[in-house]
Amino acid sequence: MKITLDEAAKIIGDAQTIILTSHIRPDGDSIGSTLGLMHYLRAQGKDARVLIDDDLPRIFKVLPGLEMIERPAEGVRYTADLLIVCDVELKRTGNVVSSVDAVRVLNIDHHVTNDEEAEYLYLNPDYAATCEIMHDLIGAMGGTFSLDVATCLYTGMATDTGFFRFSNTTPHTMRAAADLIEVGVKPNIISVAMELKSYDEVMAQVRAIRNLEMFHDGMVAAVFIDEEKAKEVTTTEGLLDKLRVIEGTQVVFFMKWLEKDTYRVSMRSKGTNVSRIAQGFGGGGHVRAAGCTIYAPFDEAKKKILAAIGEELNR
Ligand code: 5GP
Ligand code: MN
Ligand code: MN
Repeated sequence: MKITLDEAAKIIGDAQTIILTSHIRPDGDSIGSTLGLMHYLRAQGKDARVLIDDDLPRIFKVLPGLEMIERPAEGVRYTADLLIVCDVELKRTGNVVSSVDAVRVLNIDHHVTNDEEAEYLYLNPDYAATCEIMHDLIGAMGGTFSLDVATCLYTGMATDTGFFRFSNTTPHTMRAAADLIEVGVKPNIISVAMELKSYDEVMAQVRAIRNLEMFHDGMVAAVFIDEEKAKEVTTTEGLLDKLRVIEGTQVVFFMKWLEKDTYRVSMRSKGTNVSRIAQGFGGGGHVRAAGCTIYAPFDEAKKKILAAIGEELNR
C-alpha cells in the first residue's frame, strides 16, 4: 500500500525496535540511507540496527558507523517492531527479509520499477536518491541532522547523482545537499573516498576496457566478460563512467560472468529506457541506470541483451 511521507514518519514513530536493510551489491545510497536513518533513530532513543546481506566495499569506510552494519547470520531469526527496506524492493535484500519477524514492514524507495509488494510503501521516483527521501523524512519527524546522519545521506545523494551531474539532479537535490553541507559534511572528502582505487583495481579496469566493443552504429558501447576474463577483471566499479564519455553512445553496458550460465548486466543510457530492458530480464532500476541478471550460456546471453537494447533503441 502506498503511503505518504507523514504516514511513513508516523509508522516509524510508533516503533521502538527497528531493523533497517537494503539491497545486495551495496552502493552509496543503500548504505547511506540505512546507516543515516539508523544514526537518527538511535539518537531518538530507538533500538535500531542495520542488516545487509553482502560484503561492504571498503570505500564506504568514510561513513561513520559502517562497522555497525551486520550481516544476517545463517539460521538466526531476528525480531523487530518494524523492518524498513530502503532503496530497493523487498525481494532484492538477500536473506534479510526472510530472516526478520517484524510486526510491520515499511519500504522506502525511489525506483520507478519498485514492485509495490510491501505492506507500506513510500515511493518517490522524482528523487535522485533514497537519501534525498531520508532528508525529507527526518524533517517530517521534526528532526535535525547530526554530522553522522548528514555524512551518510550526503554520500548516497552524491553517488546516485554522479556527484550532482546526472539528469536526476534537481533543485531539491541541491538544497537537500546544502542542508547537509551546512552541518559540516565536506564534499571533497566524500568524493575522494568514493573514487579511491587500488593499483590492482585500476589495472582491472584497464583489462576490462580492452574488451570494449561497439554495436548498433556506435550507439552502444559494451564490455563482455566471460568466465575466463572474469579472473582478471576483478572489479567493474567505475567502468561505465569510462564508457559513457564515448561520443555518439546512447547505451553503455557490461555483461560479466557470475557463475555457470549466469551473467550480471549493468547499463547506463542518455535517455533510452534501460530500466524497461532490465525489467524484461527480471531486473530493474531507473530510465538511465538499470541492471539485471541473465541466465543463459555466454553467446546466447550476449545475443539476447544486444537484441533487447536494439529493440529499445528503435522504439
Ligand atoms: P547498477 O548498474 O549500478 O548495479 O544499478 C543501476 C540501478 O539499477 C540501481 O538503481 C540498481 O538498484 C538497479 N538495479 C541493478 N540491478 C538490478 C536488479 O537486478 N533488479 C532491480 N530491481 N534493480 C536493479
Ligand atoms: Mn542503490
Ligand atoms: Mn538509490
